[in-house]
Amino acid sequence: MLRRIDIITLFPEWFDSVKTLGLTGRAIDQGQVELKCWNPRDFTDDPHRSVDDRPYGGGPGMVMRPEPLALAIEAAQANGAASAVTYLSPQGQLLDQAGIQALSKRSQWLLLCGRYEGIDERLIEALVDEELSIGDYVLSGGEPAAWVVMDAAIRLLPGVLGHPESAEQDSFSAGRLDHPHYTRPSTWRGRAVPPALVSGDHGLIEQWRAQIAAERTKARRPDLWARPAASDPEASDVPPPAPKHDL
Ligand code: SAM
Repeated sequence: MLRRIDIITLFPEWFDSVKTLGLTGRAIDQGQVELKCWNPRDFTDDPHRSVDDRPYGGGPGMVMRPEPLALAIEAAQANGAASAVTYLSPQGQLLDQAGIQALSKRSQWLLLCGRYEGIDERLIEALVDEELSIGDYVLSGGEPAAWVVMDAAIRLLPGVLGHPESAEQDSFSAGRLDHPHYTRPSTWRGRAVPPALVSGDHGLIEQWRAQIAAERTKARRPDLWARPAASDPEASDVPPPAPKHDL
């Protein structure tokens, strides 16, 4: 179960809100998860504290220099961070809910956030153990991706959600989208709550919810509906990678 997250980032302030707000803030505040940021800029040795440089071969943008990143990773690991390094990258394995569930079962993560045009490939070859993507689009940095992955995994940890069964009912958990939700008033601007939900008959309510979740999944996400049931947790597991290097 996830206990500690270390993040290599040029922008530690990105994670201030994660530490203080919402479910992630509560989990960190209660000591369920420890979060540490490591800034590669603190591991530079030139007066400008430069962490990037122009790309060999020319072209636009800058590339993150390998040495400050390597030193930051090694300092984190010497301080007890995970030995396996996970690089948030648009070229990584695409994450889904099953992947998040598997990640939430690891005790530690060491996340590497890129910026600019990306990271010098030699650093990736030497020190990165896996690459994970949050979607087929390009962000300006790995920080929002780390933020997304942390939020999705931390809410699955025991005791973090007020009602643990709500995560089990969420979209994707059982290979289906969630059913719709309603609250008071029972009629709002002429729209009444579906009669089954106010029937008081729990069997009928479950049946209605299951049926509408299935219909909604078929209509909105035929790809999800066609997939084998998510009862096989091995299917899209993300096991901890074997670290490439010794501490
Ligand atoms: N030139 C790179 C490419 O096309 O593969 C994109 C670099 S992107 C502008 C800068 C950083 O944002 C990346 O190094 C990575 O850490 C992060 N990033 C961008 N898109 C991401 C995604 N979909 N998932 C995870 N991280 C992403």
